[in-house]
Order: sequence, then C-alpha cells, then structure tokens
Amino acid sequence: MATIFARRPLLTTATTLSVAASAYYITRPRPLLLDSASNAATPTLSFPKTMLFSKQLTLTSVEQINHDTKKLTFALPGGQKEVSGVTPGGAILTQHTPSGAWFPVFRPYTPIHDLDERGVLQLLVKKYPNGKASSHIHSLAPGDQLTVRGPIPGNAWTTPAQQKDVLLIAGGAGITPIYSLTKGILSNPADKTRIQLLWGVNGPRDIVLQTELDALEKQYPGRLEVTYAVSGPDAESVVDGGKFRKGYVDQSLLAEAMEKCRRGGAFGDEKGKKVFLCGPPKMEDALVGKQGVLQALGLQKKEIHRF
Ligand SMILES: Cc1cc2nc3c(=O)[nH]c(=O)nc-3n(C[C@H](O)[C@H](O)[C@H](O)COP(=O)(O)OP(=O)(O)OC[C@H]3O[C@@H](n4cnc5c(N)ncnc54)[C@H](O)[C@@H]3O)c2cc1C
Repeated sequence: MATIFARRPLLTTATTLSVAASAYYITRPRPLLLDSASNAATPTLSFPKTMLFSKQLTLTSVEQINHDTKKLTFALPGGQKEVSGVTPGGAILTQHTPSGAWFPVFRPYTPIHDLDERGVLQLLVKKYPNGKASSHIHSLAPGDQLTVRGPIPGNAWTTPAQQKDVLLIAGGAGITPIYSLTKGILSNPADKTRIQLLWGVNGPRDIVLQTELDALEKQYPGRLEVTYAVSGPDAESVVDGGKFRKGYVDQSLLAEAMEKCRRGGAFGDEKGKKVFLCGPPKMEDALVGKQGVLQALGLQKKEIHRF
C-alpha cells in the first residue's frame, strides 16, 4: 500500500484530505440541548463521540480527599462554551507517556462533576503504589496539562418507562462510575428508578463522596439507599449494623439488597439488567466469576452489567 501512495502523490493528498474531512465531520462540535431556561445558548461538547483526537485539559485545582485520593478539577479548552459530553456512568481516557517509555499509557476515569456543568471536568483519582497513570495524575500541579480522549460511553442505562429497582455495587475506587450513574438516574426527572447501592471499602478512611451520597439520599427520599461494607480492622469505629456493615459485599448482604429490590415488583432496568458492578478484579471475580455469588443468588450473566 505504501508503494502505491509513493507513486501517486495526488492520490495520497486526496486520501489525506478525505480522511481529514471525515475526521472533522465525525468530530465536529455538535450542539447539546439543555432543558434549563438559564442555559439559553447551547454549549458544544468538548469530547465529541470519537477517540481520534485528544484534548489538553488544564488543571485548575487539586484537593487531597483522603490518604490516597485526590479530587482534580480541569478547565475544558472551550471554557464556558463547552460541556464535557460525558454521559452518566461514562468515562474519559487519560493518556501520558512515562519518561523513558516507548508507548503511551491509557486509563479510563469517570468524571464526578455535574455533567451539564460548563467549562469543567472533575476527576477523583486513587493513587496505586507504582500505578502508572494514577501516579502521573497525582504528580500534576495547577497549571499543568493532561491529555484526555473520549468519551467512553456509559450507555448501559436506558431510562425505564415505569418505575424500576436496580442494585448498584461498587468496590473501592469503583465508586466513581456507580456514583455517576446514581446521580444521572436521580437527576433525570423522567426516571423514577429506585436504587440499592452497596459499596465495599477496606476501612473508614477509604470512604469518599459520603457527603454527596448522603445529600442524594435526602434529596430523593425513597429512591436511594446506600449501605457500606467495611472489611478492614478499623471497621469497628463506624459499623452500626445498619448503614455500615462489617465485612465484604457478601452473599447475605447481596440477598438482603436484592430482596429490597424485588419488593418493588420491577427488579431490573428497561433492558432487563438488574445489577451494575464496578470493583477491583478480585471482587468482580468473586461476584460474577465461575462460582460467582450473584449467580448463586439466581442472577444470569446477562442481568449483570460490568463497567
Ligand atoms: C470504567 C472505569 C472507570 C474508572 N474510573 C476511575 C476513577 O474515576 N478513579 C480512579 O481512581 N480509578 C478509576 N478507574 C481505575 C483506573 O482506570 C486505573 O485502572 C487505576 O487508576 C490504576 O491505574 P494505574 O495505571 O495507576 O495502575 P497500574 O500501573 O495499571 O497498576 C499498578 C498496581 O496497582 C494495581 N491496580 C491497578 N488497578 C487496580 C484496581 N482497580 N484495584 C486494585 N488494584 C489495582 C495493579 O495490580 C498494580 O499492582 C476506572 C476504571 C474503569 C474500568
């Protein structure tokens, strides 16, 4: 193929132009209609539906949330004219090339800001020991830039026509996609879904977004119930047998949450998915692997969505 292009420069130019034109067509900023009257001018999407081109986001503020997690706020390149275009439960892909490495590192992260908020993208990033992407992101200071592609669609969710019940399960840093989906469901006036949310953490110090989740429970009474499963030795300081349980997200806790979902008589979203799960590999294997606890509780694989 390279030889054909070398012998036919016109063909090369025409092909390049046509690829560029198609790329522009696919990635051109498209208007997004917002229902709020205060947002009369329609913002464009910072991340159109393609991974072809990256964006440089400028870090504007960093907040250390706990011992290993930072909240990082970035400015979108188009400022107030843009929203990110990430959908509930969706993610962006960060990209950086470690010094001395040949290949870039790509990792997905789920934004936690209000998705119709203009000009910003906010990430909650947990730092793993020797983690390539998380260490890089934690090393950034205000004014630095991060290369981002996206969005990765969070198309797992379809707004049900009738009221439904779903079970969302998070483990550790897997809370961000689950939180984003929760907020997306609750803030959509057309969606009346009731949510049971189980979140497994190692210890009280690993709990993030509790203020936000508490506020959502209060704002949407009867629509969201969050239960924390705290497994580490420090669990005793918070465990109360109600909202805070000791141990893992195990069979008995899952059975209890599923029973609450079944009470509504409509367990599962419009596509029949009953459980949405995002956690570390060990947890996901224990829940949906060959001897998976969720299967033991009568769920089929097609009823479980993993991010
Ligand atoms: C859809 C999606 C959304 C995500 N959103 C977020 C988010 O909002 N915030 C966030 O902090 N993370 C999020 N993650 C996880 C993130 O993409 C990275 O996997 C994580 O930051 C580790 O990458 P790293 O390059 O730093 O670590 P790596 O260099 O890949 O790994 C370094 C070490 O950490 C361990 N490790 C890596 N990932 C995990 C894990 N998930 N659990 C336990 N140990 C692990 C590895 O086994 C290894 O020992 C998301 C993942 C997915 C699939």
